[in-house]
Amino acid sequence: MTATKASVLARIKEYDQIGKEQFLKRYASGRSAKSYYLIYNSKYYDLKAIYAASKNPPTKPSEKNSRDSKYELEELGYVCIIDKDEDKKEYNEGERRLTEVQILTRNKGLVAAAKEKYKSICRACDFDFSKFYGEIGIGFIECHHLNPISKVTPKSPPVTVDEVTVLCSNCHRMVHTSSPPLTVEALKALIAAAKISN
Ligand SMILES: [Zn+2]
Ligand SMILES: [Zn+2]
Repeated sequence: MTATKASVLARIKEYDQIGKEQFLKRYASGRSAKSYYLIYNSKYYDLKAIYAASKNPPTKPSEKNSRDSKYELEELGYVCIIDKDEDKKEYNEGERRLTEVQILTRNKGLVAAAKEKYKSICRACDFDFSKFYGEIGIGFIECHHLNPISKVTPKSPPVTVDEVTVLCSNCHRMVHTSSPPLTVEALKALIAAAKISN
């Protein structure tokens, strides 16, 4: 039997109850995820282990690759991310990015509004996705939360369009290299300085 929304939720609860280590021992031969995570209530869960365990009867995680498992979980309405830098990043910054992902995921309308307002042009480097890539670049820009996220929790009221900006994928990664993130102005200054010195 394939996994259902309810069977996944039951495994998430079980994961919380017995802890990561026991859960992985029980369902994934003790191996933890390297980059694929399911996000639920501010927490990272090993995606493949959760998915495999949610089947009836549970299967071994190795039987299906991570991408397929992620796809199936998303079909069921779960939020999943690929985060290769999970343990290299500082905890605070990881938390921040997770909170940002959650807030923006909960506010699809806000993301649409920000894209409408700023189009697909990066606010830091002026890269224009639709100009460069044509049709497929429209709306490809990423949303970035401007407020100090330490004051914002995933349960905070929805943010307004003034509290977010849009950045290209590269600039978004760059502002998140420090904690708290660089301001867009600071990144713009760095880009300008790099241009001069090159
Ligand atoms: Zn950019
Ligand atoms: Zn961001």
